[in-house]
Amino acid sequence: MTTSATRFVQLLGLVALVFYGGAQPAVGRAAQQKMSTATPAAAKVNDAEAAPTRLDLLRGAYGEDRANNDLISYHLDIRVDPEKKYISGKNTIRFKMLKDGKRIHLDLNEALKIDKILLGETELKYSRDSGAVFVDFPETLRVGQTYAIDFYYSGNPVETGRFGSITFKKDPAGRDWINTACEETGASMWWPNKDQWRDEVEEMEISVAVPNGLVDVSNGRFVGKTDLGDGYTRWDWQVHYPINNYDVSLNIGDYEHFSDKLDDLTLDFYALPEDLDKAKRQFSQAKGMLEAYQHYFGEYPFMKDGYKLIEVPYAGMEHQSAVTYGNHFANGYLERDWTGVGISPRFDFIIIHESGHEWFGNAVSAADRSDMWIHEGWTTYLESLYVEYMFGHDDAIKYISGYKAKVKNERPIISARGVNATPPQDQYFKGILFLNTLRSVVNDDTKWFAMLHDLFQHFKYQNIMTEEIVAYMNQYTGMNLTPIFDQYLRHTTIPILELRFDDAAGTVSYRWKADVSGFAMPVRVGTAGNWEIVRATTQWQTMKAPVKKADFQVAEDLYYVKVEKE
Ligand SMILES: [Zn+2]
Repeated sequence: MTTSATRFVQLLGLVALVFYGGAQPAVGRAAQQKMSTATPAAAKVNDAEAAPTRLDLLRGAYGEDRANNDLISYHLDIRVDPEKKYISGKNTIRFKMLKDGKRIHLDLNEALKIDKILLGETELKYSRDSGAVFVDFPETLRVGQTYAIDFYYSGNPVETGRFGSITFKKDPAGRDWINTACEETGASMWWPNKDQWRDEVEEMEISVAVPNGLVDVSNGRFVGKTDLGDGYTRWDWQVHYPINNYDVSLNIGDYEHFSDKLDDLTLDFYALPEDLDKAKRQFSQAKGMLEAYQHYFGEYPFMKDGYKLIEVPYAGMEHQSAVTYGNHFANGYLERDWTGVGISPRFDFIIIHESGHEWFGNAVSAADRSDMWIHEGWTTYLESLYVEYMFGHDDAIKYISGYKAKVKNERPIISARGVNATPPQDQYFKGILFLNTLRSVVNDDTKWFAMLHDLFQHFKYQNIMTEEIVAYMNQYTGMNLTPIFDQYLRHTTIPILELRFDDAAGTVSYRWKADVSGFAMPVRVGTAGNWEIVRATTQWQTMKAPVKKADFQVAEDLYYVKVEKE
C-alpha cells in the first residue's frame, strides 16, 4: 500500500503497547510507543497508548488452531447487491492437516452473519469471538489429510479503515462503483478466511455475481462470465499463485477495458469510460516499470495471471496481478513531488510503487505483519531502482536522499510479533535508506545486483521473516551484516559516526555509537570523489586525516548515518 492521506490518521492509531523481539525473537522488552501514520507534510503523531484489542490479538496470533493446518485453496463465490450494500455466498476452504485436530481458527468480521459451515453434508458447529471463528469438527481431522469446508455467509459489511475495506460508492457519473482495499483492517472484513499473513493458499478461484451491465475485475486470469438469468452476471477469475488474503480484490464498476502485451506478458487495463483517454496515456508507463523491475529481479512473477491496472476511487493498492490505481492520472503522488527533489514528477508514483509490490509484498511476502518492511521498505527501494534504470544513479541517490526528511526515528521498523499491528511509516522511508546503505556496505554493485536478483528468485512465493533475508545476505556476501540489520530495523536510532579531530597532528579518530554491541560498518570518508573506506567499529581508531576538520566529509548520501564532529 502507500503512505497515507491524513484524514485517515485517526483510524489507524490502534496498537501501542508492544514487545520488540531482538535478534532472538523470544526476547522482548515492553515499550510504550508512539504511533504515527500521517505523511510527514501533515505529521501529527498519535500519542495514544492503547493495548492491542482482542481482535488484534486473535488475528495476529498463530496458535494451535491455525498452525494445525495448511491452506491449499479458496473458492470465493459471492453475489454483491449494490443497492442493499449486501454480500452473500460462500468460501470453499481447502486445507491439509499438519497435525491431528478437531478445531480450526478462521476469521470473519462480526457484522457478517454465518449462515452455515459444511463439511460435505455435515453442518459444523462453530463459536465466534470478536472477529475469530473457531470451527469444530465432530471427528478428528487427520494429519496429512485434505479437507474442504463450505463457509456460507451474508450481510452488510462495515466500511472502515483507511480505504474503507469495502466501499459501495457511485462513480462521478452516478453509476455503482464498489471496491475493496483491506490491508489494514483485514480481508475478513468482507469474506471469511484464515486472516493472517503466515499461511497462503496455493491458488484461488473468485466468482462474483453483479447486476448485469457492471463488470467485476478481480485477481488472476479472467475465465469467463455467465448470465445467471436473474438480472445478474457472474464473473469468474482464476489465481494461479499463492496470494495474500488482503490482496484479494473486488473492483465492480462500469469499466472499459483495453489491453497490450510486453513480450509474453498480457497487460489489461480498466478505467471508467470518461477516463479512458487519460488512462491510455498514463498507463503506458506500466511497460517501462515492468521492464525496469524485470531487469533487476527477473520475470514478472505472475505470468499466468497477467498484469492488470484498474482505476479506483482511492490512491492505490498492490492487489496481486490486479493493481489498483487512483492517482489522478498524473505524475508524482496525488500531484505532489513525493520526495521533494524534482525526480518524483517524472513518473506516476502509484504505478511504480504499487506494481513494485508484485515482487516484494505479493511474490515475496512477510510471514508476520511485524516484518512488513519486507513489503514496504523493499518496494520503496524498488522505486529508486526504477529511477536508476530510467534516469541513472545520480538521480536515484537524489531521490533516495529526499526520503530523509520523512523519517521519524521514533520506534523500530520491526514491531511486535504475533499481534496484528502495523509498523511505523519509517518502514518505507528508513527502509529505502537502509537498503541503499547496505549497497554501499557491500561496495560491489555487480555482487549487490546479483544478490537482489537471486534473493528474489530464492524467496518468491514464500512468506518469510527478516532473519531469513539476513541469513541469505550474510551467506551471499560472506559478511556479517546482522548487527547492521539489527541497528536499523530493531532499534530506534541510526548509528552515529563520532569524529574527533586533531588538526595539529593531522589525525582524526572515529568510532560508531550504536545500540547493537559489536556494531561495525565500513563507511566512506574524506572528500567527495576521493573517498577512503574506514572500517569503523564501536572502538576508537585513528587515521591520518586527508583534510582538516572543516573540509572532512562523510558520504551521507550513500550511508544513512549521523555524523558528530568534535
Ligand atoms: Zn506499499
